[in-house]
Amino acid sequence: MASDSISPMRCVRAWMLAAAVASVLAHHAAAQANATALVTARAPSEFFDLFPSPRPLPAGPTLDISFASGALELSEPVIADWITASARTIAAFYGRFPVDRLEVRVLSAEGSGVRSGSANADAGAALKITLGRAVTRGQLSQDWILLHELAHLAFPEVDRQHHWIEEGLATYVEAIASTKAGRRTEADLWRWFDWGMPKGLPQSGDRGLDHTPTWGRTYWGGAMFCLLADVEIRERTQGRRGLQDALRAIVAAGGNMEVHWPLDRALSIGDAAVGVPVLTELYGKMKATPVDVDLASLWQRLGVAVNGNQVVFNDDAPLAAIRRAITARESES
Ligand SMILES: [Zn+2]
Repeated sequence: MASDSISPMRCVRAWMLAAAVASVLAHHAAAQANATALVTARAPSEFFDLFPSPRPLPAGPTLDISFASGALELSEPVIADWITASARTIAAFYGRFPVDRLEVRVLSAEGSGVRSGSANADAGAALKITLGRAVTRGQLSQDWILLHELAHLAFPEVDRQHHWIEEGLATYVEAIASTKAGRRTEADLWRWFDWGMPKGLPQSGDRGLDHTPTWGRTYWGGAMFCLLADVEIRERTQGRRGLQDALRAIVAAGGNMEVHWPLDRALSIGDAAVGVPVLTELYGKMKATPVDVDLASLWQRLGVAVNGNQVVFNDDAPLAAIRRAITARESES
């Protein structure tokens, strides 16, 4: 897809390197999440039966992690812990892990850092993550790519022209969920949004979100749709509901990456859950029309001022309470 070739976010719908390497399987029993239990369950490899036996829990989904050959400097249990923690962050945001079973394949490449990721559900939910061989714990703790890919699991596949909602949600949810989990500061979140959201604004020749498949409109135009929807749902429900409630309802209704739905169906379920038809109305406005958004005014109403690395929050701003609610820790919201 066009967006993948020009984006650092590799979100393809097919394995690019499937079966290219002989895999060896490592096994790691995961800790129980507060909302969801995540455990590995594949039978031990005859070569690498080194990790604790799986501890299946009845209600939990299965997180099945395998490591392709190619030595990483960090141990496999450390990487499995990182994957599990990321899955727990997504489970906390959605109230449950979005699929019952997920295969995660860890690949290695030259260099360091988290290099790329992809998710697909062609034959059950599966995620691939490529790590530089010298990846460090610090880099894993700063990573956003894995959370972005995990967020993809939590929305149905939709027709090609709506790809912006898939990438926009993954971009938005990664940022919000990591902030709510305390992995990212509020200042960092708004610096990120201040950098990215302008890239989602319509440019000359734009024909609306469904008809303008550029990188900026796909990732950040989609994320901007999510932010606008989140703010409006909270305004119209006097703070009782937010986009998170709509997204939780879609997942609860079976709307995950393993199914293909008309976009309208997902939006309607989300709207019903929050009691106001914000998603359907906003989609109607933005799908075929280049809607300009006054981000400076929105930032002002939310009480956010970004100057270089400095972020100043104004808690007297009219939408300051909404800004705080969007990023409130799960236990506070
Ligand atoms: Zn993506």
